[in-house]
Amino acid sequence: MSAEQIDVLRQLQTIDATIYELKTQQAALPAAIAKHQTVIAKQEKDLAEHHEKIKKSQSEGHNKEVELQTHEEKILKLKGQLNTVGTNKEYSAILHEIEIEKMEMSKIEERVLELMSVSEQLQNEQATIESQLAQEQAELAEIEKRAASESQQIETSLAAKVTDRQAVADQINPEILTKYERVLVKHQDNAMAAVADSACQGCYSMVTAQEVNLLLGRSQVVFCRSCSRILFLPDASDD
Ligand SMILES: [Zn+2]
Repeated sequence: MSAEQIDVLRQLQTIDATIYELKTQQAALPAAIAKHQTVIAKQEKDLAEHHEKIKKSQSEGHNKEVELQTHEEKILKLKGQLNTVGTNKEYSAILHEIEIEKMEMSKIEERVLELMSVSEQLQNEQATIESQLAQEQAELAEIEKRAASESQQIETSLAAKVTDRQAVADQINPEILTKYERVLVKHQDNAMAAVADSACQGCYSMVTAQEVNLLLGRSQVVFCRSCSRILFLPDASDD
């Protein structure tokens, strides 16, 4: 194996780290969209609930108006009867009945006012939710647009990196490349680790003096015995 294999492996590692990063960015795009979709779903549910409550209070209000009318008609009828009664006793009985009807009406009127105020509050809340929903939908549209364009850019960068990778991988001994790729799958973004203070910087296990000597010789690929990463000695360009 030639001396520059380790350098080519490091080039490959740099490309693979970028590919990993791009794929991570790509995978993160739907999360931001999903977050807004969740908020919107909640707002739409709130709106539907408000709509239902408003309908209910309006329907109760309508029923109360009908009740009021019934009581009013009853009072009119009773007032008519006042002219036809013969005795004072009957007369005051009807007056009493009218009083009761009026008391019923004032209770109903109170409830009508209450319903109007509830309905007004619900409508105000509904307007607030509607404006928040519109804002959220606009933001979502913006985010979707941005995500689509970012996704496109990432795809383009990825395609370029995959081409670069092929060119670099072609320079590596197939057996080493297979091992490298196996380690890459295991560690996702990094199949290589620097050695510093006689330790693998990937897993911090100690590296023997003999292994360091092999690395200095640059003639053999050395794997960390603990994490299987391919080891390298950092040079001035790594600072
Ligand atoms: Zn290690």
